[in-house]
Amino acid sequence: MTVTLDAPCTPTLPAAPTGSPAAPVDRAVAPLLPVVGGDVAVPLVDGDTVRYANLDYAASSPALEAVAAHLTQALPYYSSVHRGAGFTSQVSTQLYESARRTVADFLGARADDVVVFTRNTTDALNLLANALPGHPGAGDVIFLDSEHHANLLPWQGRAHRCVPVSHTLAGTVERLADALRERPAALVAVTGSSNVTGEILPIARIAAIAHAHGARIVVDAAQLAPHRRIDMTALDVDYVAFSGHKIYAPFGAGALVGRRDWLDEATPYLAGGGAVREVGTERTEWAAAPQRHEGGTPNVLGAATLAAACRAIAALPAGALEAHEGQLRERLVTGLGRLPGVRLLQIWPDSTERIGVVTFVVTGHDSGRVAAYLSAEHGIGVRDGRFCAHPLLTRLGYGDGAIRASLGVGSSSDDVDRLVAAIEQLQVDGEGWDYALDHGRWAPTPDPRPAAPWLAEATGPADATDAAAGASPCGD
Ligand code: PLP
Repeated sequence: MTVTLDAPCTPTLPAAPTGSPAAPVDRAVAPLLPVVGGDVAVPLVDGDTVRYANLDYAASSPALEAVAAHLTQALPYYSSVHRGAGFTSQVSTQLYESARRTVADFLGARADDVVVFTRNTTDALNLLANALPGHPGAGDVIFLDSEHHANLLPWQGRAHRCVPVSHTLAGTVERLADALRERPAALVAVTGSSNVTGEILPIARIAAIAHAHGARIVVDAAQLAPHRRIDMTALDVDYVAFSGHKIYAPFGAGALVGRRDWLDEATPYLAGGGAVREVGTERTEWAAAPQRHEGGTPNVLGAATLAAACRAIAALPAGALEAHEGQLRERLVTGLGRLPGVRLLQIWPDSTERIGVVTFVVTGHDSGRVAAYLSAEHGIGVRDGRFCAHPLLTRLGYGDGAIRASLGVGSSSDDVDRLVAAIEQLQVDGEGWDYALDHGRWAPTPDPRPAAPWLAEATGPADATDAAAGASPCGD
């Protein structure tokens, strides 16, 4: 059930300031931490080669060098977890279980919170949806219509209310409070920061409101965790979900962290070996969480590298992440803002904090085609489309899609400057190549860029089916 509490609000879409004086952004900003592939060279359609400007951290971030080093160190000891008496099995088990403690510490979890390793945030939120109390009167789930699909679809299969965002962030929080006043809920599911605009939500305030009305809160921290310190205890947040591949550990693990009781009582998420205490042919005694939900062989290297990334981020001096990303974001917003016809997406005019995610459109240019141009002619990687947030893009009036540039610890001022210069060149000179739709995606035509020799060796020649398989799984 979807309940609309109020008429849909008109989006607030400020035009990016034009002709504004340049901010003091001419000082070079270096990467904060080394990432694997930070200097990888990519081919252009004109035959040239350039350093890849990765401005797509919000989709998947590169591995930190420290994370890759940890992986290399751990690989020789890779073995079964919880299942072997051999030395390497015991090392693997220790790696896996100590990763839980690292993740819990990284998120400021309470001593009795549980860390369940999952595949990613989507998996973690589906796990929580599976663990919602089902007894009569338990209450439903409340979420905003600005959420990523991962924090929307799992709840659609449960009793739920979708609250439309208001013109302001303060008004949006008030709408959540109104929904809770109207009828108690079991859970408020909210993102830590928007994957479209980077705007950060006032989590502590929303948690206080949820708790005052007897509801719990889960934070979708897929975007927030790589960019801001999260302290579940201080924020009084019940559950946090996040993904390794967005926090510099792209090895297939994520986590759901939070209160034990629902997780201990829930039907096992993934029934199988490792999730049980005793199995009979008709009756099974299940383990408590976290093992209850981790049936099958655990992803020890995913968990260990996720923990390594958490350690590396936690070891940064206080404020370093914010300062690095803030400078680059400001540079990007100022640079794009000087270009006529570039509009930045924003949900709320009164939001004050943002992570390094900037989404924009270039008037008169299809966003997918701009993204193809940036890649083919400039070696710049951005994301285009609707960012798995269809309701939000529709609400903002950009149902045709937009372009997202996102930053991380490996980003530099050179990446940002190249993007701004490329958009300016597009506006002044136009495209230097032809583009056509290929399986629904814009692509240069012809596309003479050679695949890396190692790729052809590993995969054989690409064919049309590969391209089709590469089309957006998100409906863009
Ligand atoms: N939540 C937000 C805010 C996201 O940006 C994403 C991914 O882009 C997800 C959830 C889903 O993350 P994953 O694909 O790792 O499950």
